[in-house]
Amino acid sequence: MSCTPGLKFLTGSIYRRGARRWRKLYRVNGHIFQAKRFNRRAFCAFCQDRIWGLGRQGFKCIQCKLLVHKKCHKLVQKPCSNEHVDPVEVKDDANGESTLGRASSVRSRAEPEPPLPETPPAPAPPAPVRPEDLEPGSQRQYSLEDFELIRVIGRGSYAKVLMVELKRTKRVYAMKVIKKALVTDDEDIDWVQTEKHVFETASNHPFLVGLHSCFQTPSRLFFVIEFVRGGDLMFHMQRQRRLPEEHARFYAAEISLALHFLHERGVIYRDLKLDNVLLDHEGHIKLTDYGMCKEGVRPGDTTSTFCGTPNYIAPEILRGEEYGFSVDWWALGVLTYEMLAGRSPFDIAQAADNPDQNTEDYLFQVILEKTIRIPRSLSVKAASVLKGFLNKNPVERLGCGENGFLDIVNHPFFKSIEWEMLEQKQVVPPFKPRLEGERDLANFPPEFTDEPVHLTPDNDTVIADIDQSEFEGFEYVNPLLMSLEDCV
Ligand code: ADP
Ligand code: MG
Repeated sequence: MSCTPGLKFLTGSIYRRGARRWRKLYRVNGHIFQAKRFNRRAFCAFCQDRIWGLGRQGFKCIQCKLLVHKKCHKLVQKPCSNEHVDPVEVKDDANGESTLGRASSVRSRAEPEPPLPETPPAPAPPAPVRPEDLEPGSQRQYSLEDFELIRVIGRGSYAKVLMVELKRTKRVYAMKVIKKALVTDDEDIDWVQTEKHVFETASNHPFLVGLHSCFQTPSRLFFVIEFVRGGDLMFHMQRQRRLPEEHARFYAAEISLALHFLHERGVIYRDLKLDNVLLDHEGHIKLTDYGMCKEGVRPGDTTSTFCGTPNYIAPEILRGEEYGFSVDWWALGVLTYEMLAGRSPFDIAQAADNPDQNTEDYLFQVILEKTIRIPRSLSVKAASVLKGFLNKNPVERLGCGENGFLDIVNHPFFKSIEWEMLEQKQVVPPFKPRLEGERDLANFPPEFTDEPVHLTPDNDTVIADIDQSEFEGFEYVNPLLMSLEDCV
């Protein structure tokens, strides 16, 4: 990625590591168990019964691959036959259970949920009309053949994103491609379902990227989503260094509305950061990437998965506390600070050059303990909103009190914002991305757009390891976008 010299905060240091979930690990008799959802063929090595049903009912040792029921894992007497094969750092907690193993960059969905039997999942956010509810004849599934792959436009921790054209209509979309091997490898599939549900919910909001369709091949999952032409905020921050307060206010306000919409529908976003905030052709924001979301959260509910992108993880997550929507307001504080100051609030001078300080543990310690210094150049109101969002105590944090979102709306920093107009996209954005035509890729880094666009052919041995039944029902067509297409 081409970077202006001096913008250290945006380049390869600890502050820019990707999003992930940390494994929740349980250590017994040399085994290191991780929760996993199994298919029909799995049997418990302890009681010999089948491991069945929905949810995370089973544990798998990440070293010797032993499978057991969650309820049986503490009883396993057979020692691990493959101890220390994986370089996993495991810390024992007081219960003899291990919590964070940070050596791996694999995402794990192993949430410390209630004991078995699993409680029924909380209700999913309302989904739009399904294709099967439509008149016969209007249903149509898509496949890779329906699209022309034009360019690679981005990569994240899990996905590659392409600009594509739907051949029939010549309309342009973004296509998020995820390898199934990444989903099934030592983890469960719930996050893909969540990402799909949230994409469906998101299709109803102007500041969230909506879904066109989903389909699969033996090796990959495809989300066809709205193409947002203006590039992400990371790209723009790398070029502009700092944003004027007026610009940061506009983005922070639109992002607040998007977060509030998700929260009202029981979704914690959990991965707000510069690279997940896109600008459309007019300069309005759109959040994308729902792979870290937690759904089914009612007011007052909490969760505890240790996940996110290190630089944006809220102190309550680091402290191992149960948390709720508060973590998104913290991340908005970090992001707003970055827009206003041109660096991370946790960026310590020279830290990137000092090996002891350029570690995740050190960053976490800074987030937990260091008093955040607000640059003196910022206005009193800007300093106050940053202090409000970056309060290490979630109970006192801006947006998390009794009045919730209203406290944000009424904060002096946002005084000039006309919230209703803003939500209807009636406020003219402060910056319009430079674009020549619908397919101009000037706002995407050449390191991606120069990549060859093809997908590598399926590898039989990789596919043989994939349990395709895990992905049944992934296909989806958004009926609203379909009817729009028919109008062209
Ligand atoms: P991951 O889940 O792997 O982080 P993302 O969904 O965040 O993947 O996509 C990676 C990058 O691709 C983003 O940071 C963004 O720059 C680009 N991108 C993602 N979705 C779109 C979209 N709908 N339109 C344009 N660019 C996108
Ligand atoms: Mg992302």
